[in-house]
Amino acid sequence: MEIGIVGLANVGKSTLFNALTKANVPALNYPFCTIEPNVGVVIIPDKRLLQVAEIVEPEKVTGAVIRFVDIAGLVKGASRGEGLGNKFLSHIREVDAIMHVVRGFSDPNVAKVGNGDLNPIADIETVETELMLADLQTLENRIEKTNRLLKTGDRKYKDELEVLNRAYEILNEGDFHLLNSFDLPNDLPLLSNKPVLYVLNVDEAALLNREMIKDMLTQVENMAAERNKDILVISASLEYELSSLPLDEAQEFMLELGIEESGLTKIINAGIELLDLVTFYTIKGPETRGWLVPRGTIAPKAAGKIHSDMERGFIKAEVISAAELVTYGSFSKAKEQGVLRLEGKDYQIQDGDVVLFHFNV
Ligand code: GDP
Repeated sequence: MEIGIVGLANVGKSTLFNALTKANVPALNYPFCTIEPNVGVVIIPDKRLLQVAEIVEPEKVTGAVIRFVDIAGLVKGASRGEGLGNKFLSHIREVDAIMHVVRGFSDPNVAKVGNGDLNPIADIETVETELMLADLQTLENRIEKTNRLLKTGDRKYKDELEVLNRAYEILNEGDFHLLNSFDLPNDLPLLSNKPVLYVLNVDEAALLNREMIKDMLTQVENMAAERNKDILVISASLEYELSSLPLDEAQEFMLELGIEESGLTKIINAGIELLDLVTFYTIKGPETRGWLVPRGTIAPKAAGKIHSDMERGFIKAEVISAAELVTYGSFSKAKEQGVLRLEGKDYQIQDGDVVLFHFNV
């Protein structure tokens, strides 16, 4: 699962990306790795995993991860190939969700790109227009192809063409947020249709005193509400500063500032929500581990995340919620008490499930 960090230049994307990928996660020994300079794996801070581990006492505890990609190169005209143009578009096509970082700080030392002075609304529109223009191009190509396929006489192409034409009209009007209600072909990944979270990047002072940015904030909040999206206010430079400190110093600093939860934790949790994921845990062998899967994933598919053999040979799953496991104090005690559930191949993994898969090899 991958989240793309998108926005105009000089809005704080890289600062945020670096903070995310440097952040300390206590007690989880998943080695953080930067796969490419702009791709990072982030461990999910997960209290429930730590509770499960306390009971199981495994040799190793491994947190679930999400990939973040810092996607540079969005400028006005990207859809026509300006800036990094096509490279930008192909990168963003691959991500499952988008964090759209918007500049909400003024700083004469950091050049402002596009739309004059601070103007988050116009900046958001610039980015979204580029995505829509790219999508219109994608739709045009697909409409042409489907039109050719109509000659086969297959009814499904007639239906598809109707949907495509309607989607084109809607995008052409700029109403991309209405696309969600369309049953678009699965192999037509549109950029404007991906889940989006707006991240307003403000100065530390404004983060601590929202009065300073009241008008701007209201504008962005209204825009987000109109589009049925969420907005998160963070200070990328503060997060970066915090991520550079040892954990105890970072916590002390947050306490001093009166911040309860770091912006990074908020971003990571918002990412999980955006992707509509649930966490399940495995406790067999030396490793206790958290895994993320899309909500509604059936047990064999979840097993396949661990190993493809386990999906192929899936027989059944023994399941207990993490909360119940904590109550009973051990997996075997829970089993004795008959609280383990036996689930079959149609079972949909629930958030917080601790799962023991049985399979044939
Ligand atoms: P990107 O082009 O969107 O990746 O932007 P960068 O993360 O490279 O940031 C551009 C510049 O803005 C850097 O010099 C950052 O230190 C600075 N910057 C990022 N966030 C903030 C902020 O909240 N306040 C201020 N004053 N500067 C920031």
